[in-house]
This record gives sequence, C-alpha cells and structure tokens, in this order.
Amino acid sequence: MHNVVIVGSGPAGLTAALYTARANLAPLMIEGSQAGGQLTLTTDVENYPGFPQGIMGPQLIQDMRAQAERFGTTFQAADVTTVDLSRRPFTLTINDEETIQTRSLIISTGASANLLGLSSESRLLGHGVSTCATCDGFFFRGQPIAVIGGGDSAMEEATFLTKFATHVTIIHRRDKLRASKIMQDKAMNNEKISFRWNAVIEEVLGDEVVTGLRMQDTLTKHTETLPCKGVFVAIGHTPNTHVFKGQLAMDPNGYIQTSHGTATSVPGVFAAGDVQDPHYRQAITAAGTGCMAAIDAERFLETAG
Ligand code: NAP
Repeated sequence: MHNVVIVGSGPAGLTAALYTARANLAPLMIEGSQAGGQLTLTTDVENYPGFPQGIMGPQLIQDMRAQAERFGTTFQAADVTTVDLSRRPFTLTINDEETIQTRSLIISTGASANLLGLSSESRLLGHGVSTCATCDGFFFRGQPIAVIGGGDSAMEEATFLTKFATHVTIIHRRDKLRASKIMQDKAMNNEKISFRWNAVIEEVLGDEVVTGLRMQDTLTKHTETLPCKGVFVAIGHTPNTHVFKGQLAMDPNGYIQTSHGTATSVPGVFAAGDVQDPHYRQAITAAGTGCMAAIDAERFLETAG
C-alpha cells in the first residue's frame, strides 16, 4: 500500500514528488510512456525562473528528477491502464498487469499535441509530418518546411526550424495570430519565415514521404499547393485524461476540474499541471500546482489517514 502515487512525470509530477518525498511519504511515480512530458520535446526554456541564461528542457527535467530521487521518490517506467477511484484505497492497474493501491493520488499526466485529423496527415506522421520541431527539425536540413497554427507553439516551432530549413511557411486559418506579441515579433522579424493567412489544409501530399500541402484559401475558396518536405502541426493540445473519464469531474474539453487548490471531485485525488489547466500551461505554473498538490495530499493523509 502506497501513501501517494503520482501519475505523470513532467514538472508538475516531479515537483509533487519532491515535496511528498521530503514529507516522508515515499511517493511512487508512474512515469508514463513519454517520461518527462512536453519539456523533453523542447529546446531552450528561457522563462523558468532561476536560469538567467536559459536551460534546455530535457536538462531541466533531468535535474528535477534527480532532485525528487534524492529525497526518496521511486520511479516506475510504465503507464496506468485502468483506475478505480470509487473507494479508498484507490486501485491502479499498471501496464494491464500489476495492480497497486494507494491512499492518495496525484494526477499530472499533462496534455498531448492535437492533429488536424486528415488521413494523409496520420499516414505521413513520422514521414515528414511531425508535432515536435525539436525532435524532428534536424531531419529537414536544407529543405522547405510548413508549420500549421497561429499560437505560441507555432511561432516557437517555426523560429526553431529556421536553424535547419531553407524557408518556413506558417499557415494559419485566420489573419490574426493567437501568439503573444513577443513570439509574433520574433517570427515576423525572421527573414526565413513567411505567413500564409486564411488557409486551411485539405491534404498532406506525398506517397512515402511528404512532398507538399494542398490548402484552401478560406476567403476566395481557391485551392493551391505548397511544396515542402516537413509539416509541423502546432495547433494546441488535449489533456491526457482518458483513463480517468467517468470517475472525476472534467470540463467539456476533458481537463480535470479542481477547486480549493488541487482537489478534484474525489477526496484524496489531486490534479496538477496541464491536465487541469487550459489557461496558463507553463512549466512554472505546472511546477507550482505540483507543489500545491503535494501539500494538499499531505494534509489529506494527516486527516483522513
Ligand atoms: P493555442 O494557443 O491553443 O493555439 C493553437 C493555434 O492552432 C491557434 O492559432 C488555432 O487557431 C490553431 N488551430 C487549432 N485547431 C486548428 C485546426 N484544426 N486547424 C488549423 N488551426 C488550428 O496552442 P499553443 O500554441 O500550443 O499554445 C498553448 C499554450 O502554451 C498557450 O498558453 C501558449 O502561450 C503556451 N506556450 C508558450 C510558449 C512560450 O512562452 N515559450 C511556447 C509554446 C506555448 P485560432 O487562433 O484560429 O483558434
């Protein structure tokens, strides 16, 4: 029987692990299939306080993990496949094999990249279509690339991809960006980046690998083709809450609802980071709510036992 199990190993989960470990609760962290979460897919993190020169995302995660481990966190590289939150202790099945029980649970499973939903997109995923510039950008050295989206992620990916690409075209379905001013300016001032406004993707072209995109202008309805070798889809994220559906209150988009700090609709279950936050979605806010979840779980265990 565990005191606290933490599901998900991004900044929220690792901070919750650090705090619950230092509270002598001997936390078990189930790391998930993409250990470290979204920060492992990013390069420079320039807005995490304490690093005036910035820090690489994977390094930040590695350091957080080492810090949580130093105080007694146990890590298990596995996925939670089913949960029963209807009674305490809570029961979790790991990789469809092992069953564990815990007095309290912290969910920090984060969110995953959205796709456009085209069959050509899924067919060419990993063959020119990607959701992670830092993972795959290098493969497109000396090639033209397209980035889909108008938010901070699209600006960040496009700017990063100019390190490799001959040219980056940002394709956005409107004529106004959602991205913050600073990220917009960075992309707009980059001579390797151009914008294609009011365009939606109809098809990713290519048999074995991507050769281009067919898109439609939303105003004129004209269809045109853009030759490119890489297509980076940066159109937001979906919370990883599938396994908890029907057992916890969620908003219509599947984000876990929290109140009074990190409490969910089930006493003893707490949620931290992007899995419960459609608004801020920053590493620092995830870490902050991870700390809150640890303190909330500790207080819950003191009173509920
Ligand atoms: P986002 O802000 O939700 O932006 C998603 C973009 O994709 C929007 O421009 C949206 O268009 C477009 N889009 C959504 N569905 C689409 C579809 N089916 N077809 C075409 N376009 C579609 O997501 P994000 O850029 O991933 O950012 C998420 C959060 O992380 C934000 O809070 C952001 O500030 C933060 N973030 C911060 C940084 C940083 O500070 N370094 C970096 C990355 C992300 P519409 O605008 O028309 O809705």
